[in-house]
Amino acid sequence: MYLRVSLTDRCNLRCVYCLPEHAQFASTRATSGELRRLMALVWAAAKVRKIRLTGGEPTLCDDLPEFVAHARSLVDVVGLTTNGVLLEPMLPQLKVAGLSRLNISLDALDAESFRRFARRDGLDRVVSSIRAARRYGFAPLKINAVAMPDTDYAALVRFAAWEGVHVRFIELMAIGEAKAFQARAHVAADEMRRRIFDAGISLSERTDRDEATARVWSIDNHDVGECSVGFITTVSQPFCATCDRLRLSSQGRLFTCLMDNSGHDLLTPLRAGDEEQVKALVVAAVAGKRPPATFVRHENMASIGG
Ligand code: SAM
Repeated sequence: MYLRVSLTDRCNLRCVYCLPEHAQFASTRATSGELRRLMALVWAAAKVRKIRLTGGEPTLCDDLPEFVAHARSLVDVVGLTTNGVLLEPMLPQLKVAGLSRLNISLDALDAESFRRFARRDGLDRVVSSIRAARRYGFAPLKINAVAMPDTDYAALVRFAAWEGVHVRFIELMAIGEAKAFQARAHVAADEMRRRIFDAGISLSERTDRDEATARVWSIDNHDVGECSVGFITTVSQPFCATCDRLRLSSQGRLFTCLMDNSGHDLLTPLRAGDEEQVKALVVAAVAGKRPPATFVRHENMASIGG
């Protein structure tokens, strides 16, 4: 299984498809120690082979390197998903702690569009973090962009090719803030490829996939071995049949699907000292993992860990 852990539901950006401007964050959360213990129990009970740390914004956690080192003591592949604004100064410590994979969210390449999507400034710092991450040898290094009607797909592909990183376009999901407009704003992967082609970039699908969730394409006539273009087609072509993801929230709840609106409380039995009960709940949750009845999540993505 692949475990994604939301270290905090707080975030320093307010991306229009994710969080409201006046977001209310949870008043309580598992402590760092409790979250690390829950990670280890989920790992043991669900045979986890890969862990990704996410949020909210994980770089807001002072003890992020300790989380990386702890995850690395459990599995070989530890990834981080971040908006990159605060990342650059942390990179050396994260490298030493054993971080192996890095995904940096970036929706636009000019300051005004960045601010329109994120409702905050920060483009220069994100780009600087991407370049620093390359220098520190993080590979594969991916940028994630949520697909919106006014996304400049071709510009992001050109940027990825130029910087020697991979780009993944994520179809907009009816989660949190995006519930209100997802139906009219959703852009399917076929349409994204058409727009990229119309801008003069020809793509060819590769036979390999880096994950079950992303079909991967190369840019024709470009000698850019490090760049690939992927599309996370959660909406236009759901991949539930091959999904092996579990999500642990910063409130200590386990979710077997992004669209699981209730989850399983692991924190209460942990606080009661009943670790066997925690593991039993994890085993039962994994056995009951099913595709969702509807592709709607009421809480925002930051609360579950995207
Ligand atoms: N703060 C980190 C970041 O920005 O990468 C990690 C958490 S963020 C919730 C994880 C991913 O979820 C990001 O790539 C974000 O763009 C994506 N996301 C949030 N809301 C979404 C939605 N409604 N549909 C699709 N992707 C979404």
